[in-house]
Amino acid sequence: MASSESLNISELFYSIQGESSYAGYPCIFIRLSGCNLRCSYCDATYTYEEQGTLMDLQQILDFVDSYSVRLVQITGGEPLLQEAVYPLMQNLVERQRVVLLETNGSLSLAHVPAGVIKIMDVKCPGSNMADKLHLANIALLARHDEVKFVLSSEADYEWARTFIQTHFSDNTGKQQQTAILFSPVQPQLQPSDLAEWLLRDQLPVRLQLQLHTQLWPNETRGF
Ligand code: SF4
Repeated sequence: MASSESLNISELFYSIQGESSYAGYPCIFIRLSGCNLRCSYCDATYTYEEQGTLMDLQQILDFVDSYSVRLVQITGGEPLLQEAVYPLMQNLVERQRVVLLETNGSLSLAHVPAGVIKIMDVKCPGSNMADKLHLANIALLARHDEVKFVLSSEADYEWARTFIQTHFSDNTGKQQQTAILFSPVQPQLQPSDLAEWLLRDQLPVRLQLQLHTQLWPNETRGF
């Protein structure tokens, strides 16, 4: 069982970052087991359907230390479910790594170390998890953080557009600094349709395609 000094790990690997403003950079990945959500389009069900491997914090840090690239992504599943993720993040920040935390948005971000770049999902209705967002997290986002909407349909797009107009615009109409990513679930939503809607509505969001699925279309893990 995971403790304050060990983590249940689904995968440790080194690959190309595929889903954020850091897409394209070589990156060390720490994928934690377990998730508290069940999104309709989940492509990482093995993180909660399979038993992970229990590893000490030091073993994980040794894996990271075996690579010289600075970018490290902590993902899942939902990484904030495990207590030892906090000392892991702190250790990585102190080692001068650029740390990305990919989180599903349902758990509080209040205790994430300040140096960590949070990439927070806002789940849309098509995921069947839209009511799970911990709304207070929005106030905890820093300028370097990112918010990701994964869209399954035009209805999801319209929902997300309203959400960002409600939560990410100040009174002057100026978009806040946090980067906002819109990513289509494929094949349910064609990227070209999403591109047309973004251009039509002039939304200040970034269209995001999963780079790793273009690089390795037949792989289901290790990215
Ligand atoms: S939050 Fe992520 S890992 Fe969890 S069910 Fe949703 S897509 Fe899958």
